[in-house]
Amino acid sequence: MKNGIMDPMKTIIKKIDVNQIDETVISEAGSILKQGGLVAFPTETVYGLGANALDEEAAKKTYAAKGRPSDNPLIVHIADIQALEEIAVNIPPETEELAFHFWPGPLTMIFEKSEKVPYGTTGGLDTVAVRMPSDLIARELILAAGGFVSAPSANTSGRPSPTTAEHVREDLDGKIEMILDGGSVDIGLESTILDMTVTPPMILRPGAITADMLEKVIGPVSVDETILGSESEQAPKAPGMKYRHYAPKAKLTIVEGTLREEVLAIRQLAYAAFREGKNVGIIATNETEKFYTHGLVKNIGTRENEKTIARNLYAVLREFDEEEVEAIYSESFAIQGIGNAIMNRLEKAAGHTRIAAAPIVEQQKYRRVIFLSNTDTSRGPMAAELLKHQDLVQEYAIDSRGLIVLFPEPANQKAEAIMKSGQMTLEGHSSVAFAEEDMQEDTLILAMDEGQKSKVVSEYENTKNVYTLNEFLEDDTQIPNPYGQPLTAYGECYEILMKLIEKLTNKLNAFTKGGE
Ligand code: AMP
Ligand code: MG
Repeated sequence: MKNGIMDPMKTIIKKIDVNQIDETVISEAGSILKQGGLVAFPTETVYGLGANALDEEAAKKTYAAKGRPSDNPLIVHIADIQALEEIAVNIPPETEELAFHFWPGPLTMIFEKSEKVPYGTTGGLDTVAVRMPSDLIARELILAAGGFVSAPSANTSGRPSPTTAEHVREDLDGKIEMILDGGSVDIGLESTILDMTVTPPMILRPGAITADMLEKVIGPVSVDETILGSESEQAPKAPGMKYRHYAPKAKLTIVEGTLREEVLAIRQLAYAAFREGKNVGIIATNETEKFYTHGLVKNIGTRENEKTIARNLYAVLREFDEEEVEAIYSESFAIQGIGNAIMNRLEKAAGHTRIAAAPIVEQQKYRRVIFLSNTDTSRGPMAAELLKHQDLVQEYAIDSRGLIVLFPEPANQKAEAIMKSGQMTLEGHSSVAFAEEDMQEDTLILAMDEGQKSKVVSEYENTKNVYTLNEFLEDDTQIPNPYGQPLTAYGECYEILMKLIEKLTNKLNAFTKGGE
């Protein structure tokens, strides 16, 4: 059975170079479409799953291959403006200006349909969505297929849309006749959908053509209010927008706040997941990638050019699927320009799960702990290393600093010997002088003795986070200075430090649980 959806078919995959389009491949693909078959092809937005838009049976196959609900209409792709008049009626006058400015390109317009368009293609609606793509492979294929190609995104319904031929293969191999592999797409998000049957025209799905761009050409446009924001009672005007969409397998949560708050909150969430042994993914950007220490971090693009983010979004969501992460946290993006479309897709992918960063960040009293000693070669580094081995419910940057450090020195050899006996090491340690920039709002500074603390208090301002370790713990145990003494003195010092650090761990953990 040639087009049998039940029987797996052999999907032919053909590479095609947009700069040197092989006409024999195009005509082969065109005749598959003419005979009612399915061909996936690149467009400038995402890969489309092409079928003859005027063939009711071909539409059925499209729905079956995608596993898409059949009330979710397809977009009809055309290659020249005359084709529009064949499939749409009562075309409003602004259409000409819009087509002049944005076609071919990532704009879909909705009109009343002509009799020529079967209800199978429009999901039973009396309207038809039409787009003229700019991708040359797409245009040639449409012409070769007879001029009207319905093409939803070439993914399994609900999964992130495909931006490479490989993504299409993952979802549709064995279910369609052919995939044209034209490399990666340019935009990476689906077209803007503009409903031309209402006045003023209404944006039903945001895309690369933004409201501002449209308004410059035809004046005011309205926006379907279900596009952004929390899950709404109201049904979106584009039937397809009501389905959970673009979604990775893991639960995706969008974290919202200032960029700094988002990074700090995601760090904390990722650390918590890591402690639970969960595999967690993070959607980061060029600007923020380096701040994450736990979790599988994916750089989705640069905030300086949000087009890069649009282009990578779906591929990144698919990569997380492959790596089987259990939860994904994403930074959020400004809702302007293409950012609107990015946030719309992210929110759909997240099933509208958004959380505020600030309250999470506020749970953390300190983010960094510095142990202060004289030379930063024995007690300070030992304490830091001991704390690093504790089970902290929150992530801290843990460091040691010295008040008298003239040049970097390795750790004291006796201190190192003692640490080794406790299965730890100070190898690679190099002493660092305490400096003004160490005095931050979120940094807890713990001196080994009173003399060190007084020195800092007298030399710097805003020293409210400076304590001696025993003062902070309300514990009288003094920390002996083993410098110049035999190994046993270092051993005693280690024992005392160990007890204090365990106590410190409990105290820090209590802060995070909101225990203060
Ligand atoms: P896709 O083909 O995956 O890009 O999805 C097509 C989108 O266009 C879906 O969200 C559809 O609901 C929407 N769409 C297609 N035709 C119409 C129409 N006649 N009226 C409203 N929305 C439409
Ligand atoms: Mg789709």
